[in-house]
Amino acid sequence: MEKYDVVVIGAGPGGYVAAIRCAQLGLKTACIESWINDEGKPALGGTCLNVGCIPSKALLDSSHHFHHIKHEVKDHGITTSGVTIDVNKMVSRKAKIVKMLTQGISGLFKKNKVEWIRGHAKLLSNSQIEINPVHDEHDEKSMIEAGHTIIATGSVPTKIPPASVDDKLVVDSTGALKFNEVPRRLGIIGAGVIGLELGSVWNRLGSEVIVLEALPDFLAVVDRQIASEAEKVLRNQGLDIRLGAKVTGTGSNNREVSINYEDSEGKQQITVDKLIVAVGRSPNTQGLGADECGLELDDRGFIVVDDNCKTNLENVYAIGDVVRGPMLAHKASEEGVAIAERIAGKASHMNYEVIPWVIYTWPEIAWVGKTEQQLKEEDIEYNSGSFPFMATGRARAMGETAGLIKILADNKTDRVLGIHIFGPSASELIAEAVLAMEFESSSEDIARTIHAHPTLSEAMHEAALGVDNRTIHI
Ligand code: FAD
Ligand code: AMP
Repeated sequence: MEKYDVVVIGAGPGGYVAAIRCAQLGLKTACIESWINDEGKPALGGTCLNVGCIPSKALLDSSHHFHHIKHEVKDHGITTSGVTIDVNKMVSRKAKIVKMLTQGISGLFKKNKVEWIRGHAKLLSNSQIEINPVHDEHDEKSMIEAGHTIIATGSVPTKIPPASVDDKLVVDSTGALKFNEVPRRLGIIGAGVIGLELGSVWNRLGSEVIVLEALPDFLAVVDRQIASEAEKVLRNQGLDIRLGAKVTGTGSNNREVSINYEDSEGKQQITVDKLIVAVGRSPNTQGLGADECGLELDDRGFIVVDDNCKTNLENVYAIGDVVRGPMLAHKASEEGVAIAERIAGKASHMNYEVIPWVIYTWPEIAWVGKTEQQLKEEDIEYNSGSFPFMATGRARAMGETAGLIKILADNKTDRVLGIHIFGPSASELIAEAVLAMEFESSSEDIARTIHAHPTLSEAMHEAALGVDNRTIHI
């Protein structure tokens, strides 16, 4: 039986990064992956590269261009006519990007000497793993031995009984990335990150989008001020967001879907041409053999791990979406690096307090650290400084004036506790905030840092000055 120092199960951003780092550290490493792509071929990259972060951003970018050209460039004196969208071309562009990036990981595996084992892994014990064929029917079941195992099996779309996915009219996030035309009326269940991103794509291309969200608050985890600004802007863009609307049933006649939901006014019904079910993601331990080998799961199905990603089985670790914490690609990757370094006997670092979040609507929403409502709940005294993009020269020049940056800092020490952005390129601007928090900066540190002019990042500088009531431009 082939023996490896480390076997990684799953090649999403958690698993493939962990495997590469293990190999870089001189450990004999294999990575088992069961993904079969739309072409029927084994592929690396997991949810993130195949049906998550990357394809959704490709469609967000295409639809942003379309909407911008159609509705916004006229303000710059540019006249356009006959602007149309070829949905199939947009979707095949996305597929090409996915293919290039997933093949890139296979190149990285070769370069770093990570062995890619195609198949579905089942744990037989803490050191023995069975590999079941998924691609070629002539492949045979095999077994390997692992000194250490890293489980990175990720997550799958959550299913709900009132809206079963038929992959025709009712789809999950994966199906929503490959529509072949713009639905006239599109329903979305769930106003979370994925629902809002996919809703934005199809709304920009012309769908009438209705988003049904069971919770009464819009983006409950986001800082209230930022969520309320974002809600106004997204509604103005045409997203019909219905809060406190719990979907209770759906029915389809092969042409359209009727959706029953309940809100504060009682029972409601709407009819749409397509429905996206985007009610969250669930940990994936299907066929992993957790019960048989005694791997502990919690009551929601997540693998139980300690702060160092150790499971209850000796030398078995778990990382990424299949364990507690935010379901984000960069969180999975950083856990992967930390565990690889720990296995190799090095010091490692994973700061769960400083994980950035981004929602890729336009304007974008991004934050790191605590929200104002969390600070209040935890009785932490803080000062706040904010600055609207409207008051920065660059945002004006770009015609991107919606939104703001807000910095929350400890009342006594001035240490930055949270930074919240709603605005253009918030996904990029948040990096400065993350670095500031990782270095335990004060708001004064940001205020004394010279920011280039004219840039969007000047809003960060001014927000930091605002913590001490000394903004210059408002
Ligand atoms: P995954 O990426 O889910 O990978 C797990 C892999 O394990 C899969 O390839 C699976 O085939 C394999 N596997 C499972 N079981 C076995 C087994 N027994 N044997 C062999 N292989 C197995 N996150 C962000 O940070 N930014 C974003 O912009 C973003 N956008 C998203 C958009 C969408 C539409 C979706 C659906 C998700 C998005 N996410 C985003 C979330 C992100 O994709 C996940 O957090 C990330 O992929 C988790 O990485 P992972 O390695 O834990 O798991
Ligand atoms: P996220 O977990 O960020 O992907 O968001 C998923 C959203 O779906 C959450 O805000 C849930 O409240 C919402 N949701 C879950 N079930 C239903 C339902 N039956 N009807 C409407 N919204 C739902």
